[in-house]
Amino acid sequence: MKGFLIIGGGHNGLVCACYLAKAGGNVTILERRSIVGGAAVTEEFHPGFRNSVASYTVSLLNPKIIEDLNLREHGLEIKLRPQSNFFPISDKESLSFHKRVADTQAEVACFSKKDAATLPAFYAMLETVADILRDELLRSPPRAVPYKSV
Ligand SMILES: Cc1cc2nc3c(=O)[nH]c(=O)nc-3n(C[C@H](O)[C@H](O)[C@H](O)COP(=O)(O)OP(=O)(O)OC[C@H]3O[C@@H](n4cnc5c(N)ncnc54)[C@H](O)[C@@H]3O)c2cc1C
Repeated sequence: MKGFLIIGGGHNGLVCACYLAKAGGNVTILERRSIVGGAAVTEEFHPGFRNSVASYTVSLLNPKIIEDLNLREHGLEIKLRPQSNFFPISDKESLSFHKRVADTQAEVACFSKKDAATLPAFYAMLETVADILRDELLRSPPRAVPYKSV
């Protein structure tokens, strides 16, 4: 049985450890904190309320990982938010991002009509980039070939 040592028990260390253990590896994780999870750590931020205290939405957790590691059977339940984001700016001003682009545009227009008008094009550009990266995420990176001088 092969032995593996993973430094850091954040999201990626834990996921790697699970895949290696599933494949029969003998895995040890070294985590410097007294709690695992890294930037996606679950902690009690207010008595009785637990959440990830840095990473705040389940956006980068790949559905394939959820399936491969049977995370739902281990208690994973994803709750949908009624609105995307709420940004307090001052005691009097805030900015909310909504599911419908038109609703977000109306919010942004309070600060900049020009930015509100270009928001759909900005989202479309982001989607194009995200689609490309999403496809690459599950592929092994190319193996770097050492440079040979002639
Ligand atoms: C503020 C913030 C908000 C984010 N929001 C989101 C979000 O909403 N949705 C989302 O999907 N992603 C979000 N992310 C990204 C997500 O948190 C990261 O992609 C993910 O946590 C990366 O995991 P990781 O295991 O690579 O690194 P980390 O989570 O950083 O984990 C690294 C771990 O290694 C440990 N470590 C470091 N050095 C050592 C050492 N020498 N010895 C032992 N242990 C060590 C650390 O203590 C830590 O536990 C956010 C990130 C940040 C910082």
